[in-house]
Amino acid sequence: MSNKLRAGIVGATGMVGQRFACLLENHPWFEVTVLAASKRSAGKSYKEAVGDKWKMDEPMPKKYEDMVVMDSDDIDAIGGKVDFVFCAVSLNKEDTKKLEEKYAKNEIPVVSNNSAHRHTDDVPMIIPEINGEHVKIIEAQRKRLGTKRGFIAVKPNCSIQSYVPALNALKEFGLEKVVVSTYQAISGAGKTFNDWPEMIDNVIPYIGGEEEKSEIEPLKIWGKIEGDKIVDAKSPVISAQCVRVAVANGHLATISVKFKNKPAKEQIIEKWNSYKADDLVLSLPSAPKQFIRYMEEPDRPQTNLDRDYEGGMGISMGRLREDVIFDYKFVGLSHNTLRGAAGGAVLSAEYLKATGYLTAK
Ligand code: NAP
Repeated sequence: MSNKLRAGIVGATGMVGQRFACLLENHPWFEVTVLAASKRSAGKSYKEAVGDKWKMDEPMPKKYEDMVVMDSDDIDAIGGKVDFVFCAVSLNKEDTKKLEEKYAKNEIPVVSNNSAHRHTDDVPMIIPEINGEHVKIIEAQRKRLGTKRGFIAVKPNCSIQSYVPALNALKEFGLEKVVVSTYQAISGAGKTFNDWPEMIDNVIPYIGGEEEKSEIEPLKIWGKIEGDKIVDAKSPVISAQCVRVAVANGHLATISVKFKNKPAKEQIIEKWNSYKADDLVLSLPSAPKQFIRYMEEPDRPQTNLDRDYEGGMGISMGRLREDVIFDYKFVGLSHNTLRGAAGGAVLSAEYLKATGYLTAK
């Protein structure tokens, strides 16, 4: 018998859910045993439920085609088939919170892509290369929920992966002020050009709620566990503008930063290229060998050429130069549905397994 953990995908028919299905097709640690979605899809085969909404470049893996999609609310039945679930649903905040808490309270751990619980004090929001130690707050969360194995862990918003890893590598120089503009792909809204033709030859200077997330979420990532909560860091101050651009996949960011102790340009590049996650993270199946790279060419990174670096799990930096208002400015790029969504969540789940928080029932 396989000793893989049994995983469910809640929201399996959506864009992030489809990405989970592809990433987990041959995963060495996790076997997908449940595909769940709304009542509209429940009872249909996965192939039928997804219909013409398949948005991946690769075809739907054969092994899922005939699996019957379950109703996300049927938690008792799902609980009998899984050790934990990934969750990516398009519900409002309150309903998402309720759904995820129902799973956790029924002793089904949830690794979530949704934003609803990102600011719940005892829910870790992890990028394993940066703040993996935050998983320890799960003990306090389990006490609050009254569970033995159930908990919720979330991953941060896709927009921040293009600049937070790069800034994290420079923390020792004292990050004071950051101005960031993100140029975000349409897949971040669950769309392709087929179902969002208005995006062709267009830029839309508004993504609801994105700027607040981009300014606040890094502070939780850089926060500290104090008692039964994670207390946000007080600095740096971040000002963000987020715009939607006519790109299928990949979020690019331009960043300006002011330090307490301004480093030399060479020091910054050295910090990025030599950034190493700890050995535990590096041993995980989805971890990139090199998390951050610096590209010397003046016109790189480019979204189309560079988003798939390290299987879409690495961050590409470029165009580092002095700034007349801040100390430096530069460009960052990450893949929004890999590192920024499903890939980041799979890596988080691997980290939670390696640290003993995700176990077989
Ligand atoms: P999506 O393509 O619209 O898919 C939404 C999924 O939610 C579908 O499986 C849908 O099932 C399911 N759903 C809808 N209503 C439901 C209900 N009442 N009960 C249970 N399931 C329900 O959305 P997405 O782009 O995958 O995003 C999903 C979540 O991930 C969102 O919270 C989003 O903010 C977050 N996220 C997305 C990205 C990205 O790059 N796209 C990045 C980070 C985070 P049916 O097919 O049955 O309707």
